[in-house]
Order: sequence, then structure tokens, then C-alpha cells
Amino acid sequence: MLLSFLAFIAVCFSSCRQTSDVDLIIFNAKIYTVDSAFSTAEAIAVKDGKIEGVGSSNDITAKYSAKEKINANGQIIYPGFIDAHAHFYRYGLGLQTADLTGTTSWDDILSKLQSFTQQNPDGWLIGRGWDQNDWTVKEFPSKEKLDSLFPDRPVILTRVDGHASIANQKALDIAGVKPGMQLTGGTVETKNGKLTGILVDNAEGVVFSKIPAPSVAQIKTALGRAQQNCFAVGLTTVDDCGLDYEEVMIMDSFQKKGELKMRIYAMLSDTKKNYDFLFDKGKIKTDHMNVRSFKVYADGALGSRGACLLQPYNDKPGWSGFLLSSQQHFDSVANIISSKGFQMCTHAIGDSGNRAILNIYAKYLKGKNDMRWRIEHAQVVNKNDFDLFGQYNIIPSVQPTHATSDMYWAGDRLGKEREKGAYAFDQLMKQNNWIPLGTDFPVEDISPFKTFYAAVFRQDAKEFPEGGYQMGNALSRENALRGMTIWAAKSNFEENEKGSLEKGKFADFIILDKDLMIVNQKEVLLTKVLATYINGQKVFSKN
Ligand SMILES: [Zn+2]
Repeated sequence: MLLSFLAFIAVCFSSCRQTSDVDLIIFNAKIYTVDSAFSTAEAIAVKDGKIEGVGSSNDITAKYSAKEKINANGQIIYPGFIDAHAHFYRYGLGLQTADLTGTTSWDDILSKLQSFTQQNPDGWLIGRGWDQNDWTVKEFPSKEKLDSLFPDRPVILTRVDGHASIANQKALDIAGVKPGMQLTGGTVETKNGKLTGILVDNAEGVVFSKIPAPSVAQIKTALGRAQQNCFAVGLTTVDDCGLDYEEVMIMDSFQKKGELKMRIYAMLSDTKKNYDFLFDKGKIKTDHMNVRSFKVYADGALGSRGACLLQPYNDKPGWSGFLLSSQQHFDSVANIISSKGFQMCTHAIGDSGNRAILNIYAKYLKGKNDMRWRIEHAQVVNKNDFDLFGQYNIIPSVQPTHATSDMYWAGDRLGKEREKGAYAFDQLMKQNNWIPLGTDFPVEDISPFKTFYAAVFRQDAKEFPEGGYQMGNALSRENALRGMTIWAAKSNFEENEKGSLEKGKFADFIILDKDLMIVNQKEVLLTKVLATYINGQKVFSKN
């Protein structure tokens, strides 16, 4: 009698506490929520892919019961990283080609190719990145060994600068390349009347044009590899900058079938068919795909002196680079994008490229606004133009690793005075009090830890230069983390669904072995992602 009474009390007691069921609880963690107060917590409850609660371990375990409970043993949890500027699709396809950079001889290349083909047995064998200047024999190779290794599989391997390739006989046959073939702007190399396989400039195109477009199955494999690499470094959303709508729709179909779990913010390239498609269809928004913006190019890059500068290059007198389209083109696309209420994102590197775009944006944005039009890179900005970002709420979308990749020669291109307005991340951040960060992968490495390191310390991995590069523009650790999470989400109009760990948002988060907010500089690049969750589902686990 007494026992059953006690049992009754116990049942009443537990039901009166009203624990609600969730799918997953992680407790005993150090959680950076990256909410507006930058508060920390110990536990998180996840239900149906969304965050149900965040709080102390006691509160969360008392309030919820879950099928799966994980004791994090003090490990660190951050929101999943968002890369605000990358080329995910292109990166994926690139993983299907053999990377020959840093090869030390022709034989080294051949052995790399043999191991590459074990993972990639079918179709054209494409490689890139060799440079005979790195070899002991600094001469162009010839194709005999390629022919004997790959008699039936077409092969083309492009030099590091893209201006020369070596093809095997199978590829040359498919393209109809014969000894003595003449073409303008290109050379088909022969020795003693025989093809060597070396094709220079326009001769490469004769073979490239025969490479079939990747099949849907190849694209699926490529994107699957790309997302796995991204999950391993903690990325849960990537901005894919400059795609054709067909590519977006392929990724959307993989996402809908559950074959692609990465969340993607897709910018369509500046072409008539993309404008026609999206204006007709309207903004596309699913839990995994968001399409509402266009990527336009103002100018080229600083390294190759393609960036458009207001004054000539310091190391090339009389040369200032150029805009890639007319002002009238930029004006007309800004006009139509603004009238349709879409987002415009423009690549601008040089101070003249930035000024041209800032002024056109200003014309259509008129004043304060929430259109979140972005300038991608915003790399060199004239000191008189910074305020335009704030006045018109133009969002600079920057890549900290560009600063630490370019710092060795940026001063040669720009000269000391102009360099002060380059990679000015903190100054740009202060214009709107927020700034999204990205990598531009595969131009840079995919790792968000390198972004964080470059943003905060502004040194290379060897801690060069002493004291850091233009440290006045370093970001604080807190702002760097915001730039890789909530501010990147905001640049995508997604701050209400991701970018911080708060009730109602997607359960996209990562578990780390070190706390980037406090570890010393040396440890930042050694930080490991232990697990990555998207939608409350574990998509990566170390070991
Ligand atoms: Zn890019």
C-alpha cells in the first residue's frame, strides 16, 4: 500500500515537472551562442532539426528528456561556420582533377596520376598545376610515357599558368590534332615531325573543347566530396558566388533528395539567361538553398594587375588596370536588380573598381536601407570612399586570408600610402558595425580557422611579419567569430534562422577541441573540429 502510494507520488512528481521530449541533448559543454550579448551556455536541446533550448546543464536536463544525451566533457561548441564567399561547386569539380602543383619531375607527375586514377577510374583524366621550372630538367615533357600508361583514356595536364598543356595521343586523336596543324594564337609542338603532346595557348582549346560536361553522377560525387571536406572544417553553410541557374537547380535537386546536406546561398552570375530565369521564377528559398542575388564583376585581381586603380600601379607606370564592363552595364543591372528587389553582389578589388560600384549602388540605394547590397572583396578602398559603405548600408564582404596571401607584394603594387586602405577589415566593419567573412575557396584554403587566424593576427603561419600586417585593421576574436557566423548569415538575409545558437534556429553547430576565444595564437591553426551537426544531425565526426 505504502509502496504503491510512493509510486503514485513519483509518477505525479515527474509528470508535474513536465519534461518535454527532444531528439538530442548535449550538456556539460562550453557553448558560445553568438547571440547579441555574446553569451555562453552549457547545454543545448534539439528537436526536429531546430534548437529547442539553450541554458545551463541543470536547466536543460531538468526541462527536457532526449533519446540521445551527450556529455561534452567541457568541449567547446560554436554555431556552424558560414563562408560568405566561396566557389563550392567549382571546388567540388576541381576535386575530380589531379592536383599537380609542387610536382618535382615528369616521373613524379606520372606516379601522382597513377594513384589519382585509383580513386578516379573513369572518363577524361584532367590535371593541372605542373611547372617544369620546378624540375631538375627544366624542359617541356613529351607524351610517350603518358601514351603507354594511358593508351585508351584521354589525358590532358595543364601547366600552372594555364598557357600550356600536355595531352596524350588518345586526347589528340579525339580532338583531331595532327602534326603541322596551324592555328592563330596557339602552337602544336612537334619534334622530328611527331607530336610531343605540348599544346600552347589556343591549341589547348582544341582539346579542351572535346572534354564532355560532367555527368549528373560525376557532379554528385564531386559535391559529395566537397561537402565532406567542408564539414570536416566546421562549415555548415557556404555562399557560392557566381553560378548558372542550371547548376543551382542541380544542387537543389540533390538537397531535396537528401544527397547534399550542405546549406547553400547561391549567387547567380551576371548573364541574361540568369536574370530572365530568376526574375521569372522569383526568389528561391528552401531550408537548404537560398537564391536571391546576382554576382557581378567590376574588375580583376591585384596580383595579375587586373584590379582597376585610380592611379597607376606603383610597379607598372602608366598602367591602372581596367573595369571588366562599361559603367553603363553596371548601372543598368543595378537598376533592374533594385527595381525587382534582389541583392547585388559585386566583385571589386581596386580603389577605382570599388569607387565605381559604390557610386552606382548609392544611386539606386539612395540612403539608409536594408537591401544588403554587397561588395565582394572591397580590397583596396580610397580613404575618401569608406564612408559610402556606412551612408548607404553597403556591405563589404571580405576574405582575411587574401590579406595574408597578398601582404608580401601588395605594397609593391600599391605603394605605402595606398596600401593603408587595403584589407582594411576593421575600418570596413565599423561602417555598418558588422562584416561577413569568407575565404574565396578554392582560391584560398577552405579552412575557417585560417580565416580566423588571418583576421585576428594578420600574420602567416610562420608569424611573419613581426607584429602583424597593418594591425590597425585586425578584428577582435569576438568580431572574427561573428563574421564567420551571425554576420555571414545576415549578409545572406538568414540571421533569423542560423548564425547563432538560439531557440527556434537550425541546429547547425560544431564541437571543437579548443576555444578560439582564448587559445594562444600557435594553437589556432591546430584546432580540430570533433563533430559537425546540420539540422541536429551529425554529418561529420573525427574518427
Ligand atoms: Zn570569388
